[in-house]
Amino acid sequence: MSSISNEPRLIRPYGGQLVDLIATGDAADELRARAREIPSIQISERTACDLEMLAIGAFSPLDRFMNAADHARVLDEMRLADGTLFPMPLILPVEPSDAIRQGRDVALRSAKNELLGIMTIDEVFAWDADEVSDKVFGTRDPRHPLVSEMRRWGPLAISGPLKVLQLPAHYDFRDLRLTPAEVRAQLDAIGRQNVVAFQTRNPLHRVHEELTRRAAEAIDGVLLLHPSVGMTKPGDVDHYTRVRTYAALAERHYEPGRILLSLLPLAMRMGGPREALWHTIIRRNYGANHFIVGRDHASPGNDSNGRPFYGPYDAQELVSRHSAEVGVTVVPFSELVYLPDEQRYEEVSRIPEGTRTAKISGTQVREEFLNLGRKLPAWFSRPEVADILAETYPPRHRQGACIWFTGLSGAGKSTTAEVLTVLLLERGRQVTVLDGDVVRTHLSKGLGFSKEDRETNVRRIGFVAGEIVRHGGVVICAAISPYLATRDEVREMIGADHFVEVFVDTPLDICEARDSKGLYAKARRGEISDFTGIDDPYEPPVTPEITLDTVTSTPEENAKRIVAHLVAQGFVRSDEGWVTEIGAPTAARSV
Ligand code: ADP
Ligand code: ADP
Repeated sequence: MSSISNEPRLIRPYGGQLVDLIATGDAADELRARAREIPSIQISERTACDLEMLAIGAFSPLDRFMNAADHARVLDEMRLADGTLFPMPLILPVEPSDAIRQGRDVALRSAKNELLGIMTIDEVFAWDADEVSDKVFGTRDPRHPLVSEMRRWGPLAISGPLKVLQLPAHYDFRDLRLTPAEVRAQLDAIGRQNVVAFQTRNPLHRVHEELTRRAAEAIDGVLLLHPSVGMTKPGDVDHYTRVRTYAALAERHYEPGRILLSLLPLAMRMGGPREALWHTIIRRNYGANHFIVGRDHASPGNDSNGRPFYGPYDAQELVSRHSAEVGVTVVPFSELVYLPDEQRYEEVSRIPEGTRTAKISGTQVREEFLNLGRKLPAWFSRPEVADILAETYPPRHRQGACIWFTGLSGAGKSTTAEVLTVLLLERGRQVTVLDGDVVRTHLSKGLGFSKEDRETNVRRIGFVAGEIVRHGGVVICAAISPYLATRDEVREMIGADHFVEVFVDTPLDICEARDSKGLYAKARRGEISDFTGIDDPYEPPVTPEITLDTVTSTPEENAKRIVAHLVAQGFVRSDEGWVTEIGAPTAARSV
């Protein structure tokens, strides 16, 4: 018996039906009990994403990590052993161990030790990172993020039937994390047969909104806004920020019933053309029969010679070539630019020569707008999106900075730091002072002056300073911090571009003559030992950002030099800027 209303409206999944690896009920209880008796292996964040995608059927018809035959043919021909087109290798790499034996069951656990599933190993095989680099990514250049990442993967791969007990836990945006079956149910409810999917790993600006709206209109269908939130390119805008921009746009700027926003737990490979084709197959599983491929899809950026790894339209070409086989139509887009005179977007290829156009690059967004606290123009970003980005990327004068004083006891670190603190508070910055002498009364109480204890002290100060900087505060650290290597470690910990090392270069004889704390006299008399400069070394910085002379300059003059440096760096507004900016600067001064 058949009736029209039972005909599936949406395109069927790739390979016919959705894979579902999730065990439930008694079977799940049995597997959980079994997991206690078998060896476990911990899988990487990337493998956990892959496992989730496999479990929910996003990689259908693939129902397991690839075996040697699938893997080899995917590398050479972009096909599984049975001939199904599948362009991206998907292995579970492991280090050799006793647990890794053919015929054995292993429990797969996340980095946080959650039990995710059980695999019955029916194949163990060696794989070669160079071969994958050459054949899949077309390069061995370590600038390619996957090429460099793969070098750290285990040399063996395991494959076999997989039962999943629990998907990796996600507590963020739960309502937006839909499985292929759930996306299909929602699309069915919307009731349009044509669905165009859009993949993204960036915040959405007007140009993307424009492009996706046009694509949905052109096919008279629904837009599946389908951002990857598993792993993207290192350095991308974090997904918390991105998803907030997507949600704001989906809610306010698209016609209701024309858009479905869902998050994809995909760990991207930045594989350009092959990845684009893979994305197309994945979207078919979610019910899309159209897929947008613009320029530089899944691009890893530039190689070590500054040249792009893939041509801008290679991805479009590859997907178009296989479009019929995958059953998904490519919606190609060339670059869109804004025409300020007509206040609209148009494809570059369709505008007459000499037309005035406007564009803002990703770099310009950061350097010329966000870092300077300038709001992105409305033709470029919706105000909601501009505000969300401005929150995540405050201007330099609201980003954190660490001013790290180093020098002998009595050199003038604390004295200069005190003046600097006041000057910064005056200019509207929040300041925390971590003074060596004071820190040693609580945070580092009990530590002495052995090399080990001094390093611990400095690392503790560095750790706290790093947290303050991360949260947008200015922190002034004033400890002798005599060892070069430890100071460099702290610089790395905090982030070199937010770190200003100030060498208070006061000669030992001057410090000793001042002897403001009476300690040099004691050290000379042998009443205290390991005293820096007397019987313990001080290693001066090689290239400090600032070197101070306390013999010919006053503390105030020196503090002003540091302020000038911070102004030049953008961490403090220039004198013209700050007066108008300050409301009531509050001093969060702690020690
Ligand atoms: P540190 O924190 O480096 O151990 P302090 O700031 O506690 O040093 O002590 C420096 C001493 O030197 C203070 O007594 C200060 O008054 C005196 N001093 C004299 N000239 C200067 C100067 N130009 N800069 C800083 N301190 C100075
Ligand atoms: P460090 O970076 O070496 O841990 P701190 O600035 O945290 O140095 O602490 C050094 C302070 O402790 C000095 O300003 C001094 O007042 C006091 N002090 C006591 N004994 C010693 C010592 N043996 N060597 C250096 N400073 C000492």
